[in-house]
Amino acid sequence: MRVLHVGAEIFPLVKTGGLADVLGALPQALIGQGADVRLLLPGLPAIADAVLHQKIVAEIGPSFGAARITLRLGQMPYSHVPAYVIDAPFLYRRPGSPYQASDGSEWPDNAQRFALLGWVGAHLASGELDPTWQPELLHAHDWHAAMACAYLAAHPPASTATVFTVHNLAYQGLFPSGDFPLLGLSSRFMASTGLEYHQQVSFMKAGLKFAQRVTTVSPTYAREIGTHEFGFGLDGVIRGRGADVSGVLNGVDGAVWDPSTDAGIAARYSAVQLAGKARCKQALQAELGLAPRADAPVFGVVSRLTSQKGLDLVLGALPGLLRRGGQLALQGAGDAALEAAFLAAAKAHPGEVAVRIGYDEALAHRLIAGADAILVPSRFEPCGLTQLYGLRYGTLPVVRRVGGLADTVVDASDDALQADRATGFTFDAATPAALDAALQRASTLYAQPERWRRLMARAMAQDFSWDGAAQKYVALYRDLIRPK
Ligand code: ADP
Repeated sequence: MRVLHVGAEIFPLVKTGGLADVLGALPQALIGQGADVRLLLPGLPAIADAVLHQKIVAEIGPSFGAARITLRLGQMPYSHVPAYVIDAPFLYRRPGSPYQASDGSEWPDNAQRFALLGWVGAHLASGELDPTWQPELLHAHDWHAAMACAYLAAHPPASTATVFTVHNLAYQGLFPSGDFPLLGLSSRFMASTGLEYHQQVSFMKAGLKFAQRVTTVSPTYAREIGTHEFGFGLDGVIRGRGADVSGVLNGVDGAVWDPSTDAGIAARYSAVQLAGKARCKQALQAELGLAPRADAPVFGVVSRLTSQKGLDLVLGALPGLLRRGGQLALQGAGDAALEAAFLAAAKAHPGEVAVRIGYDEALAHRLIAGADAILVPSRFEPCGLTQLYGLRYGTLPVVRRVGGLADTVVDASDDALQADRATGFTFDAATPAALDAALQRASTLYAQPERWRRLMARAMAQDFSWDGAAQKYVALYRDLIRPK
């Protein structure tokens, strides 16, 4: 089966969150299942300059405000997955984030920038841009790629199936209605049955309305987004799709995240050879200026600092964590008030709280390897990857029981402990007190090394591989591609 994946970011070239990890790993896993997969990516500098052996496939005339657009086909570095790159310097050759200027404001022409991505996806799918390869199915990721589904609906080639994956419903690609004429769609699309959302244009709705199937990145989040609490105003649209909405849990890229082969951590270790983990902890405490106490449970955080991630709860639960002798190691960037609050906490508790503001992939590995537990107290979490990395590294997750966190962490309740099923700690209410209670349970078990090691072994034995996820996507694709 020929499948085109369309998305805006891809690990390790451009990454603002878990979406990049998915696009960096899933295509290869699908190829492993026998699928013929290609990528379509915007020519952001880090992508356009890194994709190997690029050859021109099509010259596209002036559109979406760009005078010159060239479609090239090359290969991803590392994975060698074939990748189409849209070379449109006027729209894409900008430094920094794919979505925002350096002052944090959205690029003013994001509607054109990501409409182009969808437009090229749709025209590749219809066979107009590359006569040598036509996908049977187009898989669009998040609002950035969602317009592909609308353009295909506008000029449907009978043969192309479509899947749209929601990686995070909070980011919807909303634009003023005045931008609609820039999209080149007939006015019937600017209706509540189409892209219109409270007199604005919603790219997310293009995917939700026009893709044949909608998936999201965990089964629980697939149920949650049909509710008022988690639907960000689109729960009605999602409920309207009924059984077309499903969840496939993300995997972990074992080539990148594996403590037995990770060259970037102080010592390699595995479930049967755990000595290296203690060395990683020592190294982390030394690196971050934490007191070198082997008996202090180190609670780690690697996260975007946004209200989604619930890190204000960590600030609220910090006094209890410290009172019980714990340490906090946080790495993150985002909301200025949260950054300032964590820096102030580090200043107030030298040697016990360490905070590194910024985005640093290598430090993320050292932190997850060196910490004893990883905190993910999210208000909502489509899948969450850091808790999966934590499980793999024997760094027990302490998570709020929502979305993918609920699907991947088994709470250390008495029953689960007895049945040897527990892999971490979960809590329900989004309050500092509820997090504190979970942290307290973690500290109590941490003080019983034999029981903690059992939990680590169980956590490290979990298998969240991309192969399992890829099999589920292939089954879904088969359903849609099957001759009708
Ligand atoms: P989201 O996509 O909502 O940010 P996920 O848990 O799905 O959350 O994915 C986050 C990814 O980004 C993980 O790979 C995590 O390790 C990484 N990450 C988040 N913040 C940082 C940071 N400050 N430095 C390095 N990696 C980070």
